[in-house]
Amino acid sequence: MNSIKEVVVVSGKGGTGKTSVAGALVRLLTNRVAADCDVDAANLHMLLNPVVIEEKEFVGGKKAVIDASRCTGCGTCREVCRFQAISPDYHVNQYQCEGCGACYFLCPAGAVDFSSSLAGTCYVCRDKYSKPFVYAELLPGEENSGKLVTMVRNEARAMAEKNDIPLVVIDGPPGIGCPVISSMTGVHAAVAVTEPTIAGIHDLERIIDLAQFFKCKTAVIVNKGDINPDYSKRIEEYCATKGSNFLGTIPYESKITEAQVQATTILDIAPDSPASEIIRVIHNKLLTILEEL
Ligand code: SF4
Ligand code: SF4
Repeated sequence: MNSIKEVVVVSGKGGTGKTSVAGALVRLLTNRVAADCDVDAANLHMLLNPVVIEEKEFVGGKKAVIDASRCTGCGTCREVCRFQAISPDYHVNQYQCEGCGACYFLCPAGAVDFSSSLAGTCYVCRDKYSKPFVYAELLPGEENSGKLVTMVRNEARAMAEKNDIPLVVIDGPPGIGCPVISSMTGVHAAVAVTEPTIAGIHDLERIIDLAQFFKCKTAVIVNKGDINPDYSKRIEEYCATKGSNFLGTIPYESKITEAQVQATTILDIAPDSPASEIIRVIHNKLLTILEEL
């Protein structure tokens, strides 16, 4: 199937409730593959309680390892390492090594091995709703999170093709950095979750500009909107000026936190709550946008 649509749920920063909203939308969007691209701090799997079908290794950049049996203790590597990654007894700290290769190329004894190592794992799963789900975890201190995001997206698209599913829903990383760009490149629509504060509006502007730079259709959800109705209104007006779809305002509700604690969505524990009702309205609006893509 080459008409698979991809939609990414983003936020200009962490703490907006993005994953709770993404989890609820994933719960309602039945014919979809879900993908958690927040590889530095994946947490959608906690709501989706998946069964892992396949684990795939993610190989990162190269790192130096010194072979003590070949090392003469000449000190050259410590002199050339600009990242102070090599200890006085010639061990490389794998968290500090930036993989520049200087020690490998300049070691007169050929005692430095320089090869790629495991940097994370990608999990291809079935979630608790028996739907396909892909997520990944980057090992602590590892880089290349953008490449791991690409791996997750590729696996999710492969699942969609294999199962003849028309939609991939991505829970994107917070912020506007490299992993967000990797999550957003080439998707059809970006749904930004924000909060009604000055910082929320500022971060929203940055993420909408980024999405529009990548020519994604954009849509906005205000979370905890009733804590500042004036700012919620300002966000709605801002959306109109940017040609962005305003999907709705989810009220603050303690049941959302309770759902997180129970590792599920508010739709599962309080389906008749005001927040659940507005999430269903938002879902229907999103379906309309997806149909128009
Ligand atoms: S440059 Fe090579 S031989 Fe010299 S201390 Fe470093 S690892 Fe050992
Ligand atoms: S590869 Fe570069 S950063 Fe890593 S230990 Fe060698 S000189 Fe230092």
